[in-house]
Amino acid sequence: MALFDLRPKASRRELFDREGELGELERVVGGGAPLTLVLGIRRIGKTSLVKAFLEGRVGVYVDLRGVVRRAELYERLSEGLSEGVSRVRRFIEGIRGVTVAGFGVELRWRGSDSVSLLGLLSEVGRRAERFILVLDELQSVKPPLSAELRNVLAYAYDNLGSVSIIVAGSEVGMLRNFLGVENPESPLYGRYAYEVTVSRFPEDLSKEFLRQGFREEGIEPPAEVIEEAVNVFDGIVGWLVYFGRAYADGVRDLRRIKEAAVRLAAEELRKLSVREKLVLKAMAEGARTWAQVRNYVEERTGVTIPKATLTRIIRKLENLSIVRNYEFLDPIYREASKALKIKTFKP
Ligand code: ADP
Ligand code: MG
Repeated sequence: MALFDLRPKASRRELFDREGELGELERVVGGGAPLTLVLGIRRIGKTSLVKAFLEGRVGVYVDLRGVVRRAELYERLSEGLSEGVSRVRRFIEGIRGVTVAGFGVELRWRGSDSVSLLGLLSEVGRRAERFILVLDELQSVKPPLSAELRNVLAYAYDNLGSVSIIVAGSEVGMLRNFLGVENPESPLYGRYAYEVTVSRFPEDLSKEFLRQGFREEGIEPPAEVIEEAVNVFDGIVGWLVYFGRAYADGVRDLRRIKEAAVRLAAEELRKLSVREKLVLKAMAEGARTWAQVRNYVEERTGVTIPKATLTRIIRKLENLSIVRNYEFLDPIYREASKALKIKTFKP
């Protein structure tokens, strides 16, 4: 067991706490729910939770981050199947287009004798009592592949009774929009999705997490260090691991570790537009209302911003799970936003 391992945990043995969430998944997915969402900000432990849940069950984990082309979707699917090949072998062997060789699973996804995701699901759904498909960071898939996945989900929901799909995502609003259970245009319109929210650890548990992690590493930092780290990183387990790993590796300066974390967060904010960054910076510097944000942005740019535009930007930042009600969901992103250097073309 290594709590300060930076990779997602993959088994219950490695998982700290999350008993409640595991029980909830057990009850809901084990009970046959067709579609379950696992929601929470980045680094809160969604991937670890779903992977641990999948342990010992028949199913596949598919990481969709960065998937653009269809070939990549099937690459990730085959990686997932290969990872859990001992569990799924007898359910996928013999399916047309699927080759189970040694420790790997090969998928022929195009041409004759090929297999589609839907075809694979239908087949395993016939063979297994319950098959669990986990789609991690689904909202990151863009058109046209996104529409295809939505259709697969809708078909499985309606027709494949023994297939349960778990969808996990860090950008909660984006994920809800992706599925569109409230959107008449979506093939998933009107379907019900159970939601499991992964939350930060309360203060006591965060401290216990750090102490236990450090015990494994054979060190015992002063109580003030633990205290201070939990103040800085809140109960966001991914940051606690990041801190614990660095500290255990000899970086004994909390400020330095924090700065490195802030740089990571800043890196993730880079893809935002200038105006989106300005809005974040406004909130990081204390703007608590729509009007305060607008004043800040207009003062900084010397240009007016249409009401609808600002509202749309704020909604997007909320959908990305960076802020909610003008507050940051992760204190490290607040720091990163505060430090953003933004060219506003103003002398
Ligand atoms: P997410 O998928 O929400 O971004 P991850 O599951 O990738 O989060 O976790 C982020 C980091 O935190 C990883 O280093 C992972 O090992 C660690 N982690 C997450 N949940 C736990 C947990 N319950 N116990 C121990 N470590 C965890
Ligand atoms: Mg993840």
